[in-house]
Amino acid sequence: MNFDLGIRCDYLLSMTKNSWDRDFFIGVTGSKIIEVAPWKNQKAKKFIDAKNKVVLPGLINSHNHLAMSLFKGVADDDSLQKWLYDYILPLEAKLLNPEFVRIGTELATLESISFGVTTTCDMYYFEDVVGDVLDRAGVRGLIGEAILDFPVPDNKDQSGNDFKILDKMRERFKSHERITPCLAPHSPYACGDETIKKVVKYADKYDLKILMHLSETEKEMHDSQTQFQMTPLKRMEKLGLLEHHCIFAHCVCITEQDIDLIVDKNCGVAYCPESNMKLGSGVAPIPKLLSKGARVGLGTDGSASNNDLSLFREMDCGAKLQKLSSKDPMAMSAFQALQLATIKGAQALGIENKVGSLEVGKEADIIIVDLSSPHMQPVNNVISQLVYSTSGLEVDTVICNGKILFEGHQVLSLDQEKILSEAKRMQSKIQGFLK
Ligand SMILES: [Zn+2]
Repeated sequence: MNFDLGIRCDYLLSMTKNSWDRDFFIGVTGSKIIEVAPWKNQKAKKFIDAKNKVVLPGLINSHNHLAMSLFKGVADDDSLQKWLYDYILPLEAKLLNPEFVRIGTELATLESISFGVTTTCDMYYFEDVVGDVLDRAGVRGLIGEAILDFPVPDNKDQSGNDFKILDKMRERFKSHERITPCLAPHSPYACGDETIKKVVKYADKYDLKILMHLSETEKEMHDSQTQFQMTPLKRMEKLGLLEHHCIFAHCVCITEQDIDLIVDKNCGVAYCPESNMKLGSGVAPIPKLLSKGARVGLGTDGSASNNDLSLFREMDCGAKLQKLSSKDPMAMSAFQALQLATIKGAQALGIENKVGSLEVGKEADIIIVDLSSPHMQPVNNVISQLVYSTSGLEVDTVICNGKILFEGHQVLSLDQEKILSEAKRMQSKIQGFLK
């Protein structure tokens, strides 16, 4: 058989088991993986010899605000309240428009692809623009239009423009193979009961997934208990939100009952360790969620609270944070961290039948990581190498939906030079505002 694309894998990490194979072959035709087998001189129109490299599934970023990449560094080392109300919200009110979102998303997508991310779950304003960029870039995306109770850049007069954008997104990406429109009610504290009921009604009508920040801080939990006499999650259940596939970012402060509810209702959880550490929010009970069978993925959150989009660094921090906080080095293994960024991330987003592992019949979302640098040698254990030694810069090749998007340290689907110069132009606007 002559495949469209063939990869000879020195190391293959399919994520179907807690080990790797040596000298294997992956054959791709169209968008799909057609063969995963030992190397025996298979032929392909485009052939990649991944000598001294490891081949693994494309990484899945379960929570992000891509366009916020332009805000990196504007408000570090401050409280969440100050970060949000003194910097991010005023900056967004002043500067955000479709052009800003396009440039920020392009910049973040350049970064994400170069770090081996092939799927991003994003929530922001003007999310139709985000969908356009991800489509052009050739990656996969769940795009969630943000819905809040107060005026925001794409719904300044509260006239329902957010739902108009959703209508546009549904039409534009109807049956799109890589882009999935979603509803993104920002958080329980930014959405009153009436807003959540509207979201549920829309999700009922069009069968959409729901993305939301949930139980990020102790304050959020405390305020919900005081105002509603129940946890933020319980309130969402009462309002009917959990009847849809929900993907909740953070889940730092959740109760035992919340954990059971998350498992019962098959909710996805996006673990965002670096953002939680940087904003001093706390540690999500991920080992407990995993032991009860919850669908947990890994997210960077936006660049304003991280400040990079490398899931390799996120895996490293995510595993170590669990070990540190529990004083137990076995609290999260390197393999578990890799699962969160691949197959379990796919489960959290409800796309595990398509991506997250390298298996025959799945979409060809594949990355190749170079092992030849001094810091990557010797390769005693390729799984721990990927989690504890890799920064993201070692990514050599990125393939999504069967197409090569990154090769020779170049993103092939976007114009890097143009995007970087436009990002500089936006930087001067941001600096003007901060003065
Ligand atoms: Zn977030």
